[in-house]
Amino acid sequence: MTNVSITPAVQQFLQRRHGSFIAGRAVHDESGAVIEVINPATGEAIAAVTGASAAQVEEAVASARAAFEGSWAQTSPYQRGVLLNRLADLIEQHGEELAQLESLCSGKAINLARGLEVAQSAVFLRYFAGWATKINGETMTPSLPSMAGEQYMAFTRREPIGVVAGIVPWNFPIMIGIWKIASALTTGCTVVVKPSEFTPLTLLRVAELAIEAGIPAGVINVINGLGSVGQQLIGHPRISKVSFTGSVPTGIAVGKAAMEAKLTRATLELGGKNPAAMLADVDIQSAVQGIVMAAFSHQGQICASPERLYVHRSIADDFARALGQALQTLKIGSPMDETVHFGPLANKPHYDKMLAFFARAQASNTVICGARAHGDKGYFVEPTVILANGADDHFLHEETFGPIICILPFDDEQHLVELMNDSPYGLGASIWTNNLSKALSLIPKLEFGTVWVNMHTFLDPAVPFGGTKASGLGREFGSAFIEDYTELKSVMIRY
Ligand code: NAD
Repeated sequence: MTNVSITPAVQQFLQRRHGSFIAGRAVHDESGAVIEVINPATGEAIAAVTGASAAQVEEAVASARAAFEGSWAQTSPYQRGVLLNRLADLIEQHGEELAQLESLCSGKAINLARGLEVAQSAVFLRYFAGWATKINGETMTPSLPSMAGEQYMAFTRREPIGVVAGIVPWNFPIMIGIWKIASALTTGCTVVVKPSEFTPLTLLRVAELAIEAGIPAGVINVINGLGSVGQQLIGHPRISKVSFTGSVPTGIAVGKAAMEAKLTRATLELGGKNPAAMLADVDIQSAVQGIVMAAFSHQGQICASPERLYVHRSIADDFARALGQALQTLKIGSPMDETVHFGPLANKPHYDKMLAFFARAQASNTVICGARAHGDKGYFVEPTVILANGADDHFLHEETFGPIICILPFDDEQHLVELMNDSPYGLGASIWTNNLSKALSLIPKLEFGTVWVNMHTFLDPAVPFGGTKASGLGREFGSAFIEDYTELKSVMIRY
């Protein structure tokens, strides 16, 4: 056991009274509902957060609006980029503190918290910082009739949309929060972020670091609470855009509420049931390693993780066996142990949901490995591989958002495409093969926002990310986000 020692900064932060972060200050309202933060490795409370009151939601939006019209509007694009880079530097300097907090609150293995959640948050911030000086309109020449020699010109401006409401799930509280904050700030918007009630702490610390970085008070506000707090936020008339990441049912409710509020723009990054396809020529051992990492990192609680695996019939038995063997070598244990790859599930409701899936799998599927709880405290389970009972098996259609892979053999590529597309979701899919022609001919036929080849789940800030079908609306990253965070204003001039 090589448990990391909890730093004094983390101990002090956990002991503080927490609430929300509004207008540059940590605040809490005695009357708000108290949310206990539970360490999923032990099931014990490690901190408490007071949810935002209705008045605090008002204050947060008002403070973001004042900063939008004032301090942030007066900050040049270059300076905005500098400030986002400074925040990235501070996130790195406080990386161990943030990673430990994340690991304690969400059960993320400490090395994943350090190397992905925290380190990638800085990478994303720096990518978005670079956009601040590059958001431009176009010029055009209208063809209007000229009666007396008058001429015309026109141009477009990309103007920041206003105050953005960012709603964040519990699986990557810092990184997904940063996606929303950085997209808003680089385009000149300000933001009110609502973290998940299961992971309310780390974005409060990020907001403090933003003030230390020199980002003016009010530009980033964080309000904590249950879904009802998010609901009040998105219905607020001074919210100009909602950027939501979470489940499909909540996403639909959020999209409807945003529409009804005042046709508020909404981007929705929702769930998935992502397929991975193993063609006959793959090297089984290296593909198995790829799937272990893609499907079981953070205990499978990643929206883009593969959950259904279509394997060419000629290698299906060998593949399932090799995957089961590889998973049995994964070390399950305390997420604060640096040698552990597989920590607990992030919260009790999710653990209970996974146990129900396991009961179903034990009753009706062939279990290659796992499908049971692990240990006697905390929310630990075993990584699980099961075989599908045909193409209609519910394990091929219902998102588990956990460490469960369901395998179905396929015979030919036309059938494979039908199987992969047979889903209400369209977030991501992967093809594993050394035959480039086959991969390139399959890509246009797949109805997904992202198609990976010989990899899966990886995201990069330069590459747009989002879903087709019920997996969402809109794209984050790349240059695609700019359209969603700005209004296009056309200007026509006669001279
Ligand atoms: P969730 O939908 O339960 O909650 C997400 C957030 O919405 C939380 O902050 C919650 O408090 C808030 N919320 C709940 N009801 C609300 C309402 N009526 N109005 C406004 N806000 C409300 O999702 P979760 O359980 O936190 O996250 C897991 C889900 O998120 C999975 O389905 C997963 O696939 C999805 N996810 C998608 C992506 C992506 O980029 N596509 C990334 C991560 C997670």
